[in-house]
Amino acid sequence: MPFQSFTPPRRILMGPGPTDISPRVLAALSRPTIGHLDPLFIQMMDELKSLLKYAFQTENDYTMAISAPGSAGMEACFVNLVEPGDKVIVCRNGVFGERMRENVLRSNGELITVDDPWGRAVTPEKLEAALKEHPDTKIVAFVHAETSTGAMSDAESLCRIAKQYGCLTIVDTVTSLGGIPVKVDEWQMDAVYSGSQKCLASVPGLSPVTFSAAAIEKIKQRGTPVQSWFLDQSLVMSYWAGNGKRAYHHTAPVNSLYALHEALVLLHDEGLENAWQRHRKQHDHLAQGLRALELDFIVPEAERLPQLNTIHIPDGVDDLTVRSFLLNEYNLEIGAGLGDFAGRAWRIGLLGYGARNENVSLCLKALEEALQQLG
Ligand SMILES: *Cc1c(COP(=O)(O)O)cnc(C)c1O
Repeated sequence: MPFQSFTPPRRILMGPGPTDISPRVLAALSRPTIGHLDPLFIQMMDELKSLLKYAFQTENDYTMAISAPGSAGMEACFVNLVEPGDKVIVCRNGVFGERMRENVLRSNGELITVDDPWGRAVTPEKLEAALKEHPDTKIVAFVHAETSTGAMSDAESLCRIAKQYGCLTIVDTVTSLGGIPVKVDEWQMDAVYSGSQKCLASVPGLSPVTFSAAAIEKIKQRGTPVQSWFLDQSLVMSYWAGNGKRAYHHTAPVNSLYALHEALVLLHDEGLENAWQRHRKQHDHLAQGLRALELDFIVPEAERLPQLNTIHIPDGVDDLTVRSFLLNEYNLEIGAGLGDFAGRAWRIGLLGYGARNENVSLCLKALEEALQQLG
């Protein structure tokens, strides 16, 4: 039997990412591959930088996409900014905060952890208390939108406090960018990373990042080389730098970058404010329907992410049976609980192009039917 082409089914993706992708973005992906040092490709990359600056609301020169998924963006921030012995506070309220801790340890930083319960925002007062106790802290790291729990933290306040104590910030905006306000310059964020497959709604595999002048300075002042060659931003910088001096560092994922460019053109056409409003509106739509089904949110209303909704699985309802029903009968994917929430929660993503009326209506209908038949 010869091998055959792989033809995936057309699913509706309402999990924690990847999300539904606009046909326009998929079309961009299939355009002819050109050389990654082709002058026209370089022009496209320069435009992509401008579009990313818009998405991040920053004038940071060093704004680009790392050629690897969000996890690589996270790692790039830690391995570049954390030098051995640096004291780093990580605010942990879910799976991704835990991964940040892991990154500090592997970068030989001195780790201080500030814990908040799963399903709750990071408490600014706890961060401030930790900074008072450890005035020699160099870096504060936290997750803006904890995808594992659906909790939204107050990035503006956390960054303000970090600055008051002279710290740089590393902020995970993988699930927030494009879905809720992220204002890198106004909020004085330093090293910020995101992902292509969440609210930006492109294909997985790229991690937009932006570094402030202070973050770049910290990298330049390092006494020890970054232990990762691939993620060492002092080497990548010359590849993404404008001014015609582009030198080979690695082969850029050419077509994935076309796709991200197109996704960002769509975001720019819609306008960031409108995109934030659309996520909010579809969240309200979903919340109303869930209430009618007597399904409860895990996160208190004021701390809820509109784009990532975690709900309690009702007693006596089997997690996998329901999710299999949705997938098989409706071609609809919702997310399982992660970590502490495995088997106890569903995660319904309204990410980017996925945050549409028809998706929410279908999800509510499918859940209603599943609970009637199986519950
Ligand atoms: C998805 C996600 C990541 C990791 O991104 P990958 O593209 O899966 O590597 C990191 N942080 C948060 C908050 C995420 O939601």
